[in-house]
Amino acid sequence: MTDSTTASATSMPLIQARNVNKVFPNGCHALKDVSLDVQRGEVVVIIGPSGSGKSTFLRTLNQLETITSGGIFVDQVDLTDKRTDINVVREEVGMVFQAFNLFPHKTALGNVMLAPMKVLKQSKAEAQKTAESLLERVGLADRMGNYPSRLSGGQQQRVAIARSLAMKPKVLLFDEPTSALDPEMVGEVLDVMKELAKEGMTMVVVTHEMGFAQEVADRVVFMEDGELVLEETPERFFHSDHPRLQRFLGQVL
Ligand code: ADP
Ligand code: MG
Repeated sequence: MTDSTTASATSMPLIQARNVNKVFPNGCHALKDVSLDVQRGEVVVIIGPSGSGKSTFLRTLNQLETITSGGIFVDQVDLTDKRTDINVVREEVGMVFQAFNLFPHKTALGNVMLAPMKVLKQSKAEAQKTAESLLERVGLADRMGNYPSRLSGGQQQRVAIARSLAMKPKVLLFDEPTSALDPEMVGEVLDVMKELAKEGMTMVVVTHEMGFAQEVADRVVFMEDGELVLEETPERFFHSDHPRLQRFLGQVL
């Protein structure tokens, strides 16, 4: 590869969603011509009412959901191409859910070590070293030996973030990562996410935390009824007089 092709490859968006449609077998048209680019190192926050297609859209980005029509490219790999290895896509596109889904019979450390050993075939020593440094990074250096039942919700979610990071993903998707948490634990999880953003992690975050959107997002996207209605910088977004956004913000703020 010549230098010029290398340069153009890295300046391409990391995620390109083009006119994505998703119709579920029951006929529900959950995504209607959704197009979105996410650049490397960018933080995109998606907001919108319940049922607007936010989760479905995130899930299409790592092939947890197939699409009915349109295209999705991650680092120029076409996810709709039958030859694309879905397992590789899922390694490269990490996901953090509202429910932390930690393995209850494994410690925090064990949870973070598992996939790198099983999937990436890392040695135990190597996986442990990475897991320890990641748990330190999310502020859990003193909780590595704890089982999930001995961790608060906020701590469990931070373990879940460390577990995703252990796979060295190119992008991390967050689906309402703080919605299941008691209010006093929301901040510690958002703080970890802010740190990741600062360190240059590419992130797509579905959240109702408007403060986080305002402070951390490079772009904010509003979805309603399966459509991507608006996509703006936070400054413009929160001053937008778009009637559909106004109606939504009037309900949540
Ligand atoms: P959000 O995350 O914004 O709340 P979702 O993406 O979960 O919205 O859902 C979007 C729409 O798709 C909703 O109308 C929902 O009922 C529908 N939907 C989601 N998953 C399925 C499914 N597996 N089968 C049928 N309809 C679904
Ligand atoms: Mg959802």
